[in-house]
Amino acid sequence: MKNFIFQTVPVLHFGEGCLGQLPGQIAALCASRPMIVTDKGIVNAGLIAPVEQTLRAAGLDSVIFDSVIADPPETIVLQAIEAAKAAGVDIVIGLGGGSSLDTAKVVAALAVDDAQPLTEIYGVGLLERKGLPTILIPTTSGTGSEVTAISILTTGETTKAGIVSPHLFADVALLDPALTLGLPADVTAATGIDAMVHAIEAFTGRNAKNPVSDMLAIEALKLLTANIETACFDGRNMLAREAMLRGSMLAGQAFANSPVGAIHALAYPLGGIYHIPHGLSNALVMPYVMQFNLEAAAPLYAQLADALHIPRGSENSSEARAQEFIDYLEALAVKVKAPRKLRDIGIAREATTELAEAAMLQTRLLVNNPKELTLADAQRIYDAAW
Ligand SMILES: [Zn+2]
Repeated sequence: MKNFIFQTVPVLHFGEGCLGQLPGQIAALCASRPMIVTDKGIVNAGLIAPVEQTLRAAGLDSVIFDSVIADPPETIVLQAIEAAKAAGVDIVIGLGGGSSLDTAKVVAALAVDDAQPLTEIYGVGLLERKGLPTILIPTTSGTGSEVTAISILTTGETTKAGIVSPHLFADVALLDPALTLGLPADVTAATGIDAMVHAIEAFTGRNAKNPVSDMLAIEALKLLTANIETACFDGRNMLAREAMLRGSMLAGQAFANSPVGAIHALAYPLGGIYHIPHGLSNALVMPYVMQFNLEAAAPLYAQLADALHIPRGSENSSEARAQEFIDYLEALAVKVKAPRKLRDIGIAREATTELAEAAMLQTRLLVNNPKELTLADAQRIYDAAW
């Protein structure tokens, strides 16, 4: 067996009502002046109120930064860092989906004296030290950002760039499924498929796949595929919400250690250029990238098909079994009413050329893909997805 390394967040609180643990966790980190990093959608959905109340009841005054937007640009992150420094906060609490959590991680890292400039930390392992303590509270079941050491920001106009560093791991992740009960069906579907993609890409990763990430990916896929329909169409079902949140966390732990590949590389330009939500971007390119990967990844896709007990056809090859896995996922995406073609979401046919060129810039991800991907391959995949 190949040597491997596995890292994750040191403290996880999981379960309905665990938001109540927040003040105790802040105290355990020797902090007393929190800044909540979130977005207006979370404020409007009434999700910040219980957090503020919990803190106030414990005698903690919090500073709110609620200007995070989807595909967070550097300007917003820099504003939040300035606000944190001006207010003298000593802990950062990220509350929301991936954009808020990713922003919170970078704010915590850089809202300290003598921090590195933001422009110097893009890439893998370039952030030199830990900043303020961080507690992350997800309100969607998708990104797994609460347990990853990755932040994705938008640099310049349209390019998505990642910061990867063990210093970005939160000190505590609080996962309370009650916070996800109000998620609309379309967001539940897209974020749930994103989480499945995290598990699939971690399981098929070329470089850092390992026995722990494999185990997490399989358990994540079981939970996510078994519960996504109920979570979408019976959104107040706490058991389904809990399973989805648990699945997305496990998938997050898997891909934090065995990073994602070409599905994400081809999804990012849809976010960067067209602001298509991250989960939906993944859902749209997933079947076509998997079809492209099939020749290299068939034995692994076949293992996942077996783990999920997908009904078996008459042909007994790993390619046939892998195809059953791809078809099963596509059928599930249709069941939860996720848009299935780029043209359905207003992307022009000619756009595929620019998308393919942009995807090739995601070298950090493409190296993990089970099969090497060229510009011509990316173009063919987007054309098929169109
Ligand atoms: Zn993702």
